Amino acid sequence: MTREETELLSWIESLLADPNHARHPLHEALELLYHYHLEEKARLERMVSISDNYQRYAREDHLSVRQRYDKALRRQEKLSRISDGFQQLMREHNIALKQDSTHDPLTGLPNRRMIGERLERDLNDAGRRSLGYTLAMLDIDHFKQINDRHGHETGDQVLVAIAHIIQQELRDYDLCARWGGEEFLLLLANTHLEEGRTIVDRLRRRLSKIPIVVGDVTLSVTASAGLSEHCAGEDPLRETLLRADQALLRAKRGGRDRCCVSHG
Ligand code: GH3
Ligand code: MG
Ligand code: MG
Repeated sequence: MTREETELLSWIESLLADPNHARHPLHEALELLYHYHLEEKARLERMVSISDNYQRYAREDHLSVRQRYDKALRRQEKLSRISDGFQQLMREHNIALKQDSTHDPLTGLPNRRMIGERLERDLNDAGRRSLGYTLAMLDIDHFKQINDRHGHETGDQVLVAIAHIIQQELRDYDLCARWGGEEFLLLLANTHLEEGRTIVDRLRRRLSKIPIVVGDVTLSVTASAGLSEHCAGEDPLRETLLRADQALLRAKRGGRDRCCVSHG
């Protein structure tokens, strides 16, 4: 209440209380007006109080909604980060799975399955084979003796070194797979039989000349190979490969450290 209002009301109260004005013609009207003013003032104060409360509640409610929203947002961001990390992990896991299913764990070379798929794909894509290709089955000679003399672990490392030498010797577009044990299948792309023989003989010469060092063991290996050129319409995994295997057998029987070819 303002000071003016307080003074005005106490003045009116004293006028109404003064017995000298009791019979004044405006006394009753002033008294009614005075009480009416007090009631209106009380009602106005109630309304202001209700409005203040309402605004406070609204503010508090807005604040708690905001806090809940921020919290939900933070949780969502955290979930997104976890989900991103999980997806990245899955991608890496899938790449590792793919690598494991298509590569030999010891040498890192493509495995039998991968070269098989490549040969089947080439078979269904005749255009790519317009220049033909040659398969070479390469088998390390007397590998068992290496294991027997130096142990299986050393034998493993010798296989890794051999794989490395083969890969260095081949052209980018050739493929060398570890077919199994100490056997390697080479797919010499766009290569006819005689050119294939030149490539494989060069590779065998290198293999026999490079000293392989594993720990304090230094040794060298020789290899035998059987080659066959893919003929049009031939099933590469059955017929072409079978011919390469037969040629390899001839190379072994002929005394090893040599190359034999199958003329189809
Ligand atoms: P050949 O000249 O007739 O091919 O004689 P070889 O001794 O190489 O052939 P054989 O088939 O008699 O023996 C193959 C050897 O290769 C025996 C086997 O223990 C060894 N071998 C196969 N896979 C692995 C491998 O992953 N690691 C090691 N260390 N040795 C292996
Ligand atoms: Mg063998
Ligand atoms: Mg062998």
